[in-house]
Amino acid sequence: MSVTISFLGGASTVTGSKYLVQSSGHSLLVDCGLFQGYKQLRLRNWQPLPVVPGQVQAVVLTHAHLDHSGYLPLLVREGFHGRVWATPATQDLCGILLPDSGHLQEEDAAFANRHGFSKHTPALPLYTRQDALRCLKQIKPVPVGQAFEPIRGWLARFYSAGHILGAASLLLEVGGRRILFSGDLGRSDDLLMNPPAAPPAADTVLIESTYGDRQHPAGDVASELAPALQRLAVRGGVAVVPVFAVGRAQTLLHTIAQLKERKLIPASLPVFLDSPMAVHTTDLFSRHLGEHRLDARQTHALTRAATRVETPEQSKALAQRHGPMVILAASGMATGGRVLHHLALYAGDHRNMVILTGYQARGWLLASSSCASTARTWRCAPRWCSWPRPRPMPTPTSCWPGCAAAPARRVRSTWCTATWRPRTCCASASSMSCTGAPWCPNTVPPGRPERPPGNAHTAVGAPSGRP
Ligand SMILES: [Zn+2]
Repeated sequence: MSVTISFLGGASTVTGSKYLVQSSGHSLLVDCGLFQGYKQLRLRNWQPLPVVPGQVQAVVLTHAHLDHSGYLPLLVREGFHGRVWATPATQDLCGILLPDSGHLQEEDAAFANRHGFSKHTPALPLYTRQDALRCLKQIKPVPVGQAFEPIRGWLARFYSAGHILGAASLLLEVGGRRILFSGDLGRSDDLLMNPPAAPPAADTVLIESTYGDRQHPAGDVASELAPALQRLAVRGGVAVVPVFAVGRAQTLLHTIAQLKERKLIPASLPVFLDSPMAVHTTDLFSRHLGEHRLDARQTHALTRAATRVETPEQSKALAQRHGPMVILAASGMATGGRVLHHLALYAGDHRNMVILTGYQARGWLLASSSCASTARTWRCAPRWCSWPRPRPMPTPTSCWPGCAAAPARRVRSTWCTATWRPRTCCASASSMSCTGAPWCPNTVPPGRPERPPGNAHTAVGAPSGRP
């Protein structure tokens, strides 16, 4: 019995994963992903599939990332009425990601209609939030390791793949052949996810290869993040961290919780998670204990590591706060979402930082060559102009967050405009002295006026000249 596999996506590009497996007149899709990234790629989502959706009997999802699941609402709307097999955690994540994807498609279409960007009148969304909610009803959860038959006589089984919650490789036995679809594979040393399970024996292996033959750099996230956040806390700045709502946000929250527990950063440093999707995804870690590395105590700490920011009003209200604080906001490559507002608001002040913790694809905003040094030139587009406008940050006058004095006894101190360290601390004046040290650019011979505050806008992140 012959088996054919057609690659309908995920080939020559990393998005749009869809394998069409056909044998004896039956058809099954492994993954049902959306093309993402450049416009030429996204346009491929509008082209009809080479198979009629109504003739596909079943879909199996390896995991919930949109480049593996995001085409599902369209497939269902176009006539697919079979079951969608996925692990329970993938089902839960799809319940968060797919409706949000539909909502964004509707927003983009409405935006194009308002501003006449589209050749089509009216511009239509690829699918709607309602389409996404409808397709969720067809998902059938099946635990990792349990055999199931997506099509009668086709035997399938999930194997844990690490990567994100619920991610699995799929072994499919059909037509006398064992075919292994790796799905996206996690790293063996991931902070949150268990390492991928050993792959079973197979006749054919199809491996996802997002990173090609590149080596992941060895290194510890905490050891890089801690000094950055220490500097931030000392100079009272705001760190804006673009994060992917699934995966990266939780890794950072876990790392920050650990740094506070080990007293490597001030326990009082405020952290905000400004993404409803990331908030809901973080909650899933409690629901799927045992499917990741964290025990119950660590999972509890993860869910309490940041103040949740869900509504747009709560997000806008962050602009009224002063630093120090850390804002984690989507999207991970700053292609949209609330992080854009925070970048516009905070990136132009040298006391603040933008922390990039993940891959930035060529062509995205934060991958442009000039962004780090010309952050102040980022401007609000019309679609976000109702948000707080960039404003100069007030000069902090209270003592630094690490001050050992009791809050009631803290005194106001003056700050060095070059390093944003207090010149004096009420608890340890000598150790906190700044001006006068040889590395301080504000150290000037007696009698000469100091550089006035506010004219040192040369760089985002740590000012030069620190020890
Ligand atoms: Zn993935």
